[in-house]
Amino acid sequence: MAETFDALVIGGGAAGLMCALTAGQRGRRVLLVEHANRVGKKILMSGGGRCNFTNTGAAPANFLSANPHYCKSALARYTPADFIAMVERHGIRYHEKELGQLFCDESSKLIVKMLLDECAAAGVRIETSCSIERVTHGDAGFHVHTTRGASSAPALVVASGGLSIPSMGASGFGYELARQFGHAVLPTRAGLVPLTLSGKHQERLQDLSGVAFPVEATCNGQNFHNDMLITHRGISGPAILQISSYWQPGADLRLNLLPGIDALATLQELRQDRPAAEFKTVLGELLPKRFAQRLCEAWLPNRPMKQFNAPELKQIATQLQAWPLTASGTEGYRTAEVTLGGVDTDELSSTTMQSRRIPGLYFIGEVVDVTGWLGGYNFQWAWASGHAAGIAL
Ligand SMILES: Cc1cc2nc3c(=O)[nH]c(=O)nc-3n(C[C@H](O)[C@H](O)[C@H](O)COP(=O)(O)OP(=O)(O)OC[C@H]3O[C@@H](n4cnc5c(N)ncnc54)[C@H](O)[C@@H]3O)c2cc1C
Repeated sequence: MAETFDALVIGGGAAGLMCALTAGQRGRRVLLVEHANRVGKKILMSGGGRCNFTNTGAAPANFLSANPHYCKSALARYTPADFIAMVERHGIRYHEKELGQLFCDESSKLIVKMLLDECAAAGVRIETSCSIERVTHGDAGFHVHTTRGASSAPALVVASGGLSIPSMGASGFGYELARQFGHAVLPTRAGLVPLTLSGKHQERLQDLSGVAFPVEATCNGQNFHNDMLITHRGISGPAILQISSYWQPGADLRLNLLPGIDALATLQELRQDRPAAEFKTVLGELLPKRFAQRLCEAWLPNRPMKQFNAPELKQIATQLQAWPLTASGTEGYRTAEVTLGGVDTDELSSTTMQSRRIPGLYFIGEVVDVTGWLGGYNFQWAWASGHAAGIAL
């Protein structure tokens, strides 16, 4: 005999835990099934172990989706302030790092403990190391057959996340389930991920691995001003992770290597003030020395400043402010922080996250085609979408 509940939640990540505790607080009998040996593994590893749990500026413009309006309702009804209130109620100390990003002072473990304490207080049952064999749907609701037996409920919430970091329990399960119930799944790809270089770019940069400096990265009409890091295989750092979500093979990626500086005016001034200085020397004062040197060996001319005429300086300034870098690919799901694409929002309610095809079926968190920028936005979507479903159950 299957044990019955009001709701079954598949996946004990940020979205599933938030949904379960919200529904539990409203008196619903909830079973949360997690196939890994513990819940919240991504929360634990997030933010370098300090969990960047929200962003005070989170707004729909910080999310990518085929339907940019879909996330609006949930984000408006469960805001960063709502999550901060829970964090403060649990006495967790936090700080703002930059750009509205809130991190725990101590450890991400406190966020998982908070969610587990809330679930326990709300009577949520959690089964870990529990694999799902099949899910069926009939007149009596949903039946989930697991390695621990069968359970049924009139509502099923899919919170199984995306494909990023398979070693942490990520699986394509949610997409398969969506397809099983006739939902479209938009093509998925790795997001917030280092980009790889090949050919000359890679050969010329790989020994500079570890060199970091601010850039403005532009691709597909989006731009991010933050640090870039050269790696053995390509480029990373916050500016690159951010722009990677907007990059696709063949896309035009440009880097302003002197963000916030009028490159032409600066070069003209330097030519006037230090006519005998070599270009690589003055560039080495604007950029990390080794990188400036490499630019001058491989891409830009090097001679005393006075030997550059006006059109040449203009051309160099343009190159420095829109350096075309051809990425060959990404590091993939192994290191990606998120998965772009996913369950199409077209047939989901933006207020409840419920399927319009199958009443009682919900999709929340990263499995849905809503992906945030780097900086606490993805957790805010997990909390907000989890809460939206939790109050609808
Ligand atoms: C290294 C790293 C650092 C990150 N740092 C941040 C950060 O600081 N701030 C931020 O906002 N975002 C961060 N993110 C992104 C954030 O972790 C995710 O967007 C968020 O966890 C998504 O929540 P979710 O609940 O939808 O999915 P997940 O957190 O991935 O949870 C899904 C859960 O479902 C389980 N599951 C999967 N398949 C099954 C199945 N078949 N049966 C049962 N259970 C299943 C998984 O084991 C997992 O526990 C980071 C991601 C990574 C990888």
